Amino acid sequence: MSDIKKIRPLVGQVIKTVQETPDTWTLHLQTNDRAYLAGQFVSIDPHQFEELSEILAYVEHKKSRKELIRAYSMASAPHEETVSITIKPERYNAEHDDYPPILSPFLASGFMMGRTIKFLGYTGPYVLPINLEEQADQVLHLVAGSGAVPNFALLKDQLIGNKNPGVHHTLIDVNRTYEDIIYREELALLAQKYPKRFTLVHLLTREQRDGFVHGRPSLELIKSHVKDPSRVLAYACGSAITKWQRKKAESTGVPAAPRFIESIAEIMQALGIDKKRFKHESYG
Ligand SMILES: Cc1cc2nc3c(=O)[nH]c(=O)nc-3n(C[C@H](O)[C@H](O)[C@H](O)COP(=O)(O)OP(=O)(O)OC[C@H]3O[C@@H](n4cnc5c(N)ncnc54)[C@H](O)[C@@H]3O)c2cc1C
Repeated sequence: MSDIKKIRPLVGQVIKTVQETPDTWTLHLQTNDRAYLAGQFVSIDPHQFEELSEILAYVEHKKSRKELIRAYSMASAPHEETVSITIKPERYNAEHDDYPPILSPFLASGFMMGRTIKFLGYTGPYVLPINLEEQADQVLHLVAGSGAVPNFALLKDQLIGNKNPGVHHTLIDVNRTYEDIIYREELALLAQKYPKRFTLVHLLTREQRDGFVHGRPSLELIKSHVKDPSRVLAYACGSAITKWQRKKAESTGVPAAPRFIESIAEIMQALGIDKKRFKHESYG
């Protein structure tokens, strides 16, 4: 068994690809080392892919620096046979992006089937504490879009693994439309199978639909799902103001608009949830 704390070079073969939504794909990697914790991530160096060599050469020339490795949370829980990652590709917007995204549009595709991917693993602090039951009665999962990835792993690990049975899990999952919901069927199955331990709340910001809350997560909505703020641990994953947006805000003097994580942080504060009880991860 490898040392779980040590980041090491690993190799996996894509043995299954799943199109989760119109643009989001999950790659299931077969690898002989699966010693990780639910909620952690792997890192992938785009330079290993021959197809990306010219775009990398071009942007590295333009940026005058080498492109870095990219992190991808694992959607899988350690008890599962494959290590899986779910990629929602970034999109180039000529109005405010200086460069096109490089790795995510390449990975988010059925063409990855059968490919070998080198990656670094496993690391990341977005994990539940070992003594969860002592610290909390409830875990509040607050996710938007591909932010669902690590929380899906946490949920599967706790529910299917029957860990900390005294702890209730509430997932507030925010997406634009019904079609954008990643792991829609798997989440519904978990809610059906573990009704006493898991509450699933879907919010759609751009669509009205029966059984789904319309709009962004409000203080009132989140409050209605929090049993006791002193016994809840909140795990939020989604977009946050990126370093590029911060730089732009500094240079133009126009403050960057709060994104999902900033809005949730404000709500956590209003609910009186201690900062130490609020963990967040952003993808920017
Ligand atoms: C801990 C962690 C976990 C993550 N997990 C996931 C996951 O599960 N699924 C997922 O889809 N993503 C995840 N991500 C995001 C992922 O790591 C990548 O950032 C994402 O896929 C974009 O990579 P890219 O190569 O496609 O885009 P990039 O090439 O990195 O570009 C992204 C954006 O940054 C802009 N940009 C890049 N360089 C510059 C520059 N020099 N100046 C100005 N703007 C610039 C580009 O214009 C573009 O809009 C995670 C990130 C972190 C930190």
